[in-house]
Amino acid sequence: MSKIELMSEDLANKIAAGEVVEKTMNVVKELVENAIDAQSSFIKIELIDSGVKEICVTDDGIGMDKDDAVMAFSRHATSKLKTLEDLFNIESLGFRGEALPSIASVSRVNLKTSDGNTGTEVIINGGNIESVSNSDLKQGTKVTVRDLFYNTPVRLKYLKNLYIELANVVEYVNKMALSFPNIKFVLLNNGKELLNTDGKGNLLKVINAIYGLDVTKKMIAIENDNKDYKISGYISYPEAARTNRNVITTLVNGRIIRNNDLMRTILDSYHTYIPESKYPIVVMNIEADPYLIDINIHPTKMDIKFSNFDNLKSLINETISKKLESLTLIPTLEAKDKNQLEEKEVKESINFKDVIDSYIENNKNKSNIDNDYQKVEEVTIDFEVNEEKESYSNQEEEDTNSERVKKMYPVGLVHGTYIIAENEDGMFIIDQHAANERINYEKYLKAMGTHDNKVIDLLIPIKIELSNSDYIILKENMHLLEELNFTVEEFGINTILIRSHPYWLPTFNIEEAIRRIIEVIVSKESFDSYKFTEKVAITLACKMSIKANDHISLETMEYLLDTLRKTENPFTCPHGRPTIITYSNYELEKLFKRAMN
Ligand code: ZN
Ligand code: ZN
Repeated sequence: MSKIELMSEDLANKIAAGEVVEKTMNVVKELVENAIDAQSSFIKIELIDSGVKEICVTDDGIGMDKDDAVMAFSRHATSKLKTLEDLFNIESLGFRGEALPSIASVSRVNLKTSDGNTGTEVIINGGNIESVSNSDLKQGTKVTVRDLFYNTPVRLKYLKNLYIELANVVEYVNKMALSFPNIKFVLLNNGKELLNTDGKGNLLKVINAIYGLDVTKKMIAIENDNKDYKISGYISYPEAARTNRNVITTLVNGRIIRNNDLMRTILDSYHTYIPESKYPIVVMNIEADPYLIDINIHPTKMDIKFSNFDNLKSLINETISKKLESLTLIPTLEAKDKNQLEEKEVKESINFKDVIDSYIENNKNKSNIDNDYQKVEEVTIDFEVNEEKESYSNQEEEDTNSERVKKMYPVGLVHGTYIIAENEDGMFIIDQHAANERINYEKYLKAMGTHDNKVIDLLIPIKIELSNSDYIILKENMHLLEELNFTVEEFGINTILIRSHPYWLPTFNIEEAIRRIIEVIVSKESFDSYKFTEKVAITLACKMSIKANDHISLETMEYLLDTLRKTENPFTCPHGRPTIITYSNYELEKLFKRAMN
């Protein structure tokens, strides 16, 4: 019985509208998704010139019989859905019956397929079936698409940047490999291997194949659930963050989803651990009862609506922040023996480096794949290690924080900016402003959160004059100042009078501090009350902290280091920049060649 059936004209038209084959990535995507639908456990993607010359996808799936093989290229045929109703109830990944005929209409296609009984070979040029014959293929499907857009030269122009085409394909195949750790993916361009996963179902190994060993070592397993949702996967240490948001992969019930709320939630969980413009590497599987989710299917994107999103949000927030709180997050400066690595690997990866460099240039955004393919040979990593480490994380309470960072003893100051310190583990460099900022930030945040109404009355009220536009905005939002326990009065034109202020306000230069808070209000960035207090805390902390070029005493350094150790997150300033970096004793010895190997 033929697996492919003709679908109604109506449905065909509905889908055709959104379907355009305009990137090699779209062709790869269609072929790979067909291979996955065919229950393959091995998918090999071979490109020549980023796929513009040739794309060949081979799988070991269930294959097709002769009828299906021919039917696959007739317009409006699909095995995947027959009625409009099916469109909204889709199990398989690919649903666009249009794609294969569309691809065939602008290229030369050779399809070899076998369902285990008979092998078939179909040759199509520019959409016309040239021949149908028997093939020697035993099982699975092999589709070769050559000379994409050879008969529509205008389209070909869009493909002229081979680097971007390739980067897009790589990114797509990475995501599929992360979604299907049970499928072995091999990707080659001009014979050079760009990805090779083992298909044995271990997600961490897929991460290793994509991002390399250095990143893999910085990944932490997560798993948690509540009554509506279950999450699992891996998150990276903050220091492994990249500048491209594509390093965040979210799957819902096994399907790649791009959802802004979900992205926001993950980034919020890393808040103040990484700078705003950076993204942690995350692969998160979300399992949810299908009745809680509503997948919005559009041919080019997969978005989703969650019911009870707040439950998912708090699950993610709690899981990630708990993990981060349990870690020691001082970036280590590794003493790599550069020459060793470079000669062998860089030579090998040189072509791909070109690709990536150009991609970076073209995107201005630094690509997430810049380091991904520097394979470390003879990888020896225990892929279970990360999960076992978990036992550490729950030993909570008491002095966990001061345990996370051992006591450090200041030795001196460099450029009036960086404190050099030591302890039995090694040498530390601390940014005095960032460290002080972290301390003050937590102090202000805590003070503002206690709802302690202690205020300090001013003998002489402070008069603050504002610009007319600022004054208008402030007047609208006067309650924000009052909630912070300021007593404020309007006083003539564009002027306010402060009669008392909360006790935690820095006592020197009060007017400056108040002006800073007003700036936050006037900036209108966010009036959600948590974000507002947080913004105020960050602003004051920055303003009130020791600056660079301030030559502080050894005692002050000692005080800073000790107080920093006891903060909730000693490792980054509230802007997400690092406070401490370290050279371990071992690395120092290695750098000075006291230690070999
Ligand atoms: Zn600052
Ligand atoms: Zn900062």
